[in-house]
Amino acid sequence: MATSKKDQATTAPTPPPESGLKFFREILGQDWVVSHLKAAMIAGRLSHAYLFLGPGGVGKATTARALAAALNCTQPEADGDACGTCPSCRRLAAGTHPDFLVITPEESKAQIKIEQIRELRRLTAYPPLGGGWRVVLIKPAEALSAANDAAANALLKTLEEPPPQHLLVLTARGEADLLPTIVSRCHKLAFAPLPSALIIQELENRRALPRSQAALVTALSGGSLGRALALDPEELVRQRDQVLSDLDHINRGETGLVLEWAQRLTQNRTDLNNFLLLAQLWYRDLLLSHFQAPASLLAHQDLLSALEQARAGGAPATWFASFAALGVAQRHLQANLNPELTLDILGLRLQRHGNPYDSR
Ligand SMILES: [Zn+2]
Repeated sequence: MATSKKDQATTAPTPPPESGLKFFREILGQDWVVSHLKAAMIAGRLSHAYLFLGPGGVGKATTARALAAALNCTQPEADGDACGTCPSCRRLAAGTHPDFLVITPEESKAQIKIEQIRELRRLTAYPPLGGGWRVVLIKPAEALSAANDAAANALLKTLEEPPPQHLLVLTARGEADLLPTIVSRCHKLAFAPLPSALIIQELENRRALPRSQAALVTALSGGSLGRALALDPEELVRQRDQVLSDLDHINRGETGLVLEWAQRLTQNRTDLNNFLLLAQLWYRDLLLSHFQAPASLLAHQDLLSALEQARAGGAPATWFASFAALGVAQRHLQANLNPELTLDILGLRLQRHGNPYDSR
């Protein structure tokens, strides 16, 4: 529908949580989930509670919104999707629909308060005001048990005895941080990370990014369109250039510089994580281009001649080794090993792999 793109463009990057109409046909890259929900809706076999699992920014809340729109639409399309023009759709678009509720932590807090769940329970004692379905989106469900389990336990009662014409949607990255009693009462649907080609296309369309920048941003997005849209492409290019300059120094075997680099990078965890990712992408690109993969698969599409030059002066075995060393450092940091020590070792490993004449 022609309005959908305009709708997204005006609300990006962070639409207010209670407004905005979404359609099933707008949801990108989650065809299986969408067709499952539409089929269940048309057959009248929807669960009373869903748990949408998957990384951030892949469309979980958007899908909950589209479900609420479709369920309450008075003139749905033949495939069950919302019409966009009936009174219910218009109220959803304006953020004034009385039967679509979003429960989310207040301000920047990580926790949903028990009062919010008690308020929800008071409300669900009454039927939906519009005569259709009351849809309650709880996001993220991890926030139910962030400080204690009181809010989660209060919600349990609603999940155990769901009122008629009520549907709950909980979103979460994974099940690990949720109470098993919550998980077991929901129908789980897994949202996949989005394909790179799709994210690149959205960045080109919505942000008017050149292809090479879109490719770099996408490579760092982890399959999340939300994350891709939130990243600053120019800052990323600046960081990437710094990473390549660092790698160049390290490879030239200046040990003093290696240790100084390690110390500098440990000051900022975000810089450190970005270094590891960007450097991995560099070696991945070297390997991909060595094995003649198409340039469209590369993260650093603006650096084809630099890649060519680096390929001429290196060997695949050392790129594999450097890539692996970066992965080991990543795991050590995730396991809370001493960052400075981890980076010293990483720097020395990269230095050794980067110098083909070094037989240590
Ligand atoms: Zn409608």
